[in-house]
Amino acid sequence: MGAHRVNEGWPLMRCAHVKLPNGLTAIVCGSGRAGLVLCVACDRRAPFLCDWKLGGGKTCDVPICAAHAERVAEDKHLCPKHSKAWAQWQAERALRSASTQDGTV
Ligand SMILES: [Zn+2]
Ligand SMILES: [Zn+2]
Repeated sequence: MGAHRVNEGWPLMRCAHVKLPNGLTAIVCGSGRAGLVLCVACDRRAPFLCDWKLGGGKTCDVPICAAHAERVAEDKHLCPKHSKAWAQWQAERALRSASTQDGTV
């Protein structure tokens, strides 16, 4: 039978124990926004939040699963959108330093 359904033992309408990064366990109930936090890029559980700085002391905070989280530093993860922005920022920075060296010749 084609029982290919996304069900990893996490019924959406029930309470669930969630392991927090700090070692504590939280219990979340219900579905959607108030309950399980699902990855923006897929429907899996999202143990990470995007740490991309938006300015004003805010971070992107988009929930991301382990597969979609780009780990850029110890305890820092980026969503797919911002991992692209991060790569671009790095490329631009490399370009800038390269052109600076050229300019001093
Ligand atoms: Zn995902
Ligand atoms: Zn983000």
